[in-house]
Amino acid sequence: MLSVSDVVFSFSPEHPPVARVSPGDMVRFMTKDCFCDQVTGASDLVTAIDFDRVNPATGPVFVEGAEPGDTLCAEILSIDVAEKGIACTLPDSGPLIGWCELRTKVIEVREGKAIFNDLVFPVRPMVGVIGTAPAEGAVVCGQPGAHGGNLDCKFMTAGAKAYFPVRTRGALFQLGDLHASMGDGEIGGTGIEIGGTVLVRLHLIKNLPLDWPMLETGDMIHTLASGPEFVAVQREAARQMQRLIAAAWGWDETDAALYLSVRGDSAICQTCQPSTFDMVLRMGIPKEPGKARLLPLPG
Ligand code: CA
Ligand code: ZN
Repeated sequence: MLSVSDVVFSFSPEHPPVARVSPGDMVRFMTKDCFCDQVTGASDLVTAIDFDRVNPATGPVFVEGAEPGDTLCAEILSIDVAEKGIACTLPDSGPLIGWCELRTKVIEVREGKAIFNDLVFPVRPMVGVIGTAPAEGAVVCGQPGAHGGNLDCKFMTAGAKAYFPVRTRGALFQLGDLHASMGDGEIGGTGIEIGGTVLVRLHLIKNLPLDWPMLETGDMIHTLASGPEFVAVQREAARQMQRLIAAAWGWDETDAALYLSVRGDSAICQTCQPSTFDMVLRMGIPKEPGKARLLPLPG
């Protein structure tokens, strides 16, 4: 089994790949937490760390045969998180600015449960940063975009399949920023930030151009769009889903829009606003029995 552990701090077609795989191969990603292990105890405040070294992603991995216009499917097989995670308030982000102090909280994770003060709750490990390289330029890992990046979607869990547009040869797939738990919106700016290991099988779907990433869970499929303005982002997420439904089910765009209104869920992944980072919204629909898949099955 191929394991990778080298990290980068941006998504870029210029990063040299740390490994090369064929479609269908499994890769084990060893990840650092979003602070690159600079925060280890309650006395380490986020204001003291080097912000050039945050949100590391492990990779990138070059997928043989992947070319612009294809789609990469990352099937998340398992996520194992460490035994200690960190949650912080941030000085300048989120709806509760001004109503909380700067604080670092160490959260123990044992046997699938997180211990938060006197409360013990089940963890829900997920991948925050995941995607492929953009066509050009470098996008810091903390920023989401059409390539993926900091999607911070709580459904990016073991068992999910995430789909990303391939925009450069080899796709250059990378991931990091595990959370033992994160709520929709991640309103304080962090989940339970934690290191760990993610086992992924990388599939290639030739000649399927996507505008935005997508995420398939056991019973739903979502489009994920991002940007600085809620209205525009919601419109992008809904529009991609509308087109896929119309194409897959042979409905016109108006019926697809009506269906999304009565059956779809437009929801928040990441809206820690105000923030210097864009928000991420999703548009999801149930997998309707008897209806065609919106995306081809990954081979
Ligand atoms: Ca994140
Ligand atoms: Zn994170």
